[in-house]
Parts: sequence; structure tokens; C-alpha cells
Amino acid sequence: MNAITLSGLYKRFGAFVALDGVDLTIPAGCVFGLLGPNGAGKTTTFKCMLGLVRATSGTVAFDGAPLTPATFEHIGYIPERSVLYDWMTVREHIEYMRHSFARFDPSKAHALLEQLGVGDDRKRVRALSKGMRTATAVALAFARQPDILILDEPTSGLDPINQRTVLNLIINEAARGATILFSSHQIGQVERAAERIGVMQRGRIVLEGAVDDLKAGRKIVEGILPSETFAIDGFAANPNIDRIERSGRVVRAFVHQQPDAVAADLTQLGAGGIRVVDLNLEDIFLDAVSPGTSTASVVEEA
Ligand code: ATP
Repeated sequence: MNAITLSGLYKRFGAFVALDGVDLTIPAGCVFGLLGPNGAGKTTTFKCMLGLVRATSGTVAFDGAPLTPATFEHIGYIPERSVLYDWMTVREHIEYMRHSFARFDPSKAHALLEQLGVGDDRKRVRALSKGMRTATAVALAFARQPDILILDEPTSGLDPINQRTVLNLIINEAARGATILFSSHQIGQVERAAERIGVMQRGRIVLEGAVDDLKAGRKIVEGILPSETFAIDGFAANPNIDRIERSGRVVRAFVHQQPDAVAADLTQLGAGGIRVVDLNLEDIFLDAVSPGTSTASVVEEA
């Protein structure tokens, strides 16, 4: 069962195309991390999904059905910018949520606030630090115990301890059966929490899949060339190489199979210090959004 399905989501702001045909399927019970450079379209995707911005075309289905007011009972959303009311206290927000959502659990909200270091619920939101506001928004969203959580950079502005707490909350909610879609620029966090990822660039999904599958079999073969201008003509023609990066004397080849053969080629060319390393999610992300990933082109780094 798919919890969320986006099909051909397209959004234009005037002449600017923010979403250019987003297709995405998020299985039920999955933690899905959405990555992308600034301005890629992550927030716009979330807003279109929730009807906060009207998509120009395309469809969104939750559990196979279009969004209705009743669907919101099952969805928790943390927007990129706080939606808390400045003039209300944290306690008043808890009361407000209790009246608004049947499954909201005030004792869970208090426990989460305590855990995230927002101990005094009599404070007005305007008196909270940026990180405390985010922590409050997280506590309120998770206390609703929704089936689906859509979190737009939920750890932004949080200290490392609270970032870890929020990641653990995400993992625990998934263990409870919730589906979680979250965006973050902290790739290490996405790697820790997400089973699947999507990478957006210029309004499109340029890479999508299970983190383990995306990493499987892919390696980086790294070597040090005799000089910065040392010619490695012909190296890129090796069909096992997806892309080559050069930075100073260091050359890095992204390889999808037979890394040892590529390492041997590089040694033959005259490179030293050859290493074969696993790709981490940051490499996969950078590979997906850098130019020339579809052919084995050489990218010179600044
Ligand atoms: P970030 O990582 O910086 O938060 P993002 O991936 O969430 O970025 P969006 O906020 O979805 O990106 O923005 C995608 C593009 O759409 C950007 O170029 C942005 O300027 C543009 N955009 C978003 N909202 C509007 C709007 N209301 N009017 C015009 N352009 C908009």
C-alpha cells in the first residue's frame, strides 16, 4: 500500500516553473528523505501535496484517495516557517491542538516538550528562541499521533542534541507504523533515518530509491596524479565509470562495477595512493545534482 502518490505534479509561479512533473511514491510505513539544493522545489512539493499551494496540474493521493478536509486528521505537517502564534503561550497551543484534533495527546506533547528542553509551557511563543520554536512545533506535530508526517526541515535551527532527539522520534514514529516524509539539508541525518530518498533538482526528481540499493555496488576509485595538469586521456572511456572529478592532483572516479579494474587502469596511468571507497549518501546526492552525471565526463572542481 502506498501512503502518498504524486503524479505529474507541475507548478508554475507566473512564467517560472517550480515543479516540472514530480512523480513520487511513498510506501506506507516508510521514512522518506527528500533532498535537494536550495530552490529545488521541496517546500513547493509539500505545499502542493497539502493544498496550501494549488498545483498547476498533476495529482496527489493519500492512501489512494485525493486530499479532503478529513485527511488532515491523519496528517501532521511541520512547515519550513513556524506557524505558531506569537501571542499565545505554549500551553495555549496545546489546548488549541487538543480541541482541534481528536488524536492529540496533551501528555505526549508535555513529555516531548520536556525532552526537547522546552520546559516552561507558560512562555509566549514570541519569547522562545528559534530552536525552541522549532522544538515546540515538533512536539505539537508528533503529539497528534498522525498516520502521515510531512516535515519540512524539522531539525533546522536545533542544537545537535535536539537534532538527534527529533531523528529518534522520526524512527520511533515509523516503528509505530507512521509514514514520514521529511526534507533536510543535513545529509548525515537523512542517511541515519531514511530508508528511501528522493533527490530534487530544478523541480524534478532526479534520483529516487532505497538508500541501500542506491549505494549497492557503487564505489569511488580515488588516486593522486603526478601533477595537476597530468593528462588522463582515455580513462573516462572505461564503461564502468559514471563520472570523474578532478581537484588539484586528486582524481575520483564514480564507478558502478569492477572498481578493481578501474583502480588498475588508474595505476597504469601513473596515479599513486589508489583507494577504493564506498559511496555515502552525500556522494550519491552530489553525484545526482552535479552536471554531467549521465555520461562519464570529467568535472574540474574549483
Ligand atoms: P530550500 O532548500 O532553499 O528551502 P526548496 O527546495 O524548498 O528550497 P522551494 O521553496 O520549493 O525550494 O522553491 C522552489 C522555487 O520556487 C524557488 O525558485 C522559489 O523562488 C520559487 N517559489 C516558491 N514559492 C514562490 C512564490 N510564491 N512565488 C514565486 N516563486 C516561488
